[in-house]
Amino acid sequence: MSQDDTFRRLSERLATYQQDMVDLQRELVRRVAVGPENDGPGEGAKAAFLRELLQGWGLKVDNYPAPDDLVPEGARPNLVAWLPGRRPEKVWVLSHLDVVPEGDVSLWHSDPFELKVEGDRLYGRGTEDDHHGIVSSLMAAKAFLDLGITPERTVALALVADEETGSHLGLEFLMREHRQLFSEHDLIIVPDAGSEDGTLIEVAEKSILWLRLTLLGQQAHASRPQLGRNTLRACAHVIVALEELRREFPSQDPLFRPPESTFEPTRKEANVGNINTIPGRDVFYLDCRVLPEIDLERVQERVRAIGTEVAQRFGVTLEVEPVQDLRAAPATAPEAPVVLALQKAVREVYGREAKPGGIGGGTVAAFFRQQGLPAAVWMTVSDTAHSPNEFCLLSNLLGDAKVLAHVFLEK
Ligand SMILES: [Zn+2]
Repeated sequence: MSQDDTFRRLSERLATYQQDMVDLQRELVRRVAVGPENDGPGEGAKAAFLRELLQGWGLKVDNYPAPDDLVPEGARPNLVAWLPGRRPEKVWVLSHLDVVPEGDVSLWHSDPFELKVEGDRLYGRGTEDDHHGIVSSLMAAKAFLDLGITPERTVALALVADEETGSHLGLEFLMREHRQLFSEHDLIIVPDAGSEDGTLIEVAEKSILWLRLTLLGQQAHASRPQLGRNTLRACAHVIVALEELRREFPSQDPLFRPPESTFEPTRKEANVGNINTIPGRDVFYLDCRVLPEIDLERVQERVRAIGTEVAQRFGVTLEVEPVQDLRAAPATAPEAPVVLALQKAVREVYGREAKPGGIGGGTVAAFFRQQGLPAAVWMTVSDTAHSPNEFCLLSNLLGDAKVLAHVFLEK
């Protein structure tokens, strides 16, 4: 049977799995895999469910647990399910198990942890980020199993932990402790970002710098501010002063969307528990996505200098510490085999021309690229990751499963 016929059969089979895709999303959404650093239980329940499911399909599933005292199981799961191919070279599809918390629940129109289906839309925390990757890759593998078709390359479905809080116990752990799993001859796909029409194959990312800024002043009764040094007021002024960073680092690179570096104040820790106390300690975080050629030391230095100058005006001290400091890895070559395989598959399934490009940074592909492994980040997104009312489209799950099945047939 020709490769075209084989792909046509897989494609038709996948079209019959739409209810299975919805059902799998439902099971994943209800297993709340928020990491312990975000006050969640971790990925244990979700991983156990998936492991059993995949073993039930007849796949061999390995776990590479990363020790972690913060979860009840004592370790974070990193699963790899294997579908043997004609050749030992692999196609990796690496998705992550963890999700971010629901955020402000009043902004949701439905329970974030219960799947809601509305036409083509599947709502729920994690449906896009990153159940989209999990469901499309698992269903692509299932089509091969159900039809008894052997993929060209060995398919390795990786389901990793801890992506949303730095990947230390996820892919970073795998790359450090189990580096031998991966080879530069493998095709590595990370379905964790993309564009709404599926035409962005992400090959480059910005550097990421997360900073914790701690202001220390003097707590006092709110009726006698002269006795205190109010860190919340200072904090507000520091945040405004840090707008200066955009003018200090103005360079642009059209490979990226957006083309410039970004510097966003994000998390603010709780300070005092009551209204009539002037806070003497405030902590907030800055999320910087920086063009690869800019030195992160220099950014940190400027944050400290700008912040300290303002803090001093309010008589408080400022401490700046990095929480994550991830230098951009060398880009994956636009003509790398994984990029070409995806381009061919997207053309076949969606009838569109996909192009290599860069994004604001922050996928786990950086860990591959730092080790010289050419990884491509690709999926068809609805751009609702981390938002209230996160959703993915069932039609995209189906289309992306077909694209992955096409890649699994790549010689
Ligand atoms: Zn993600």
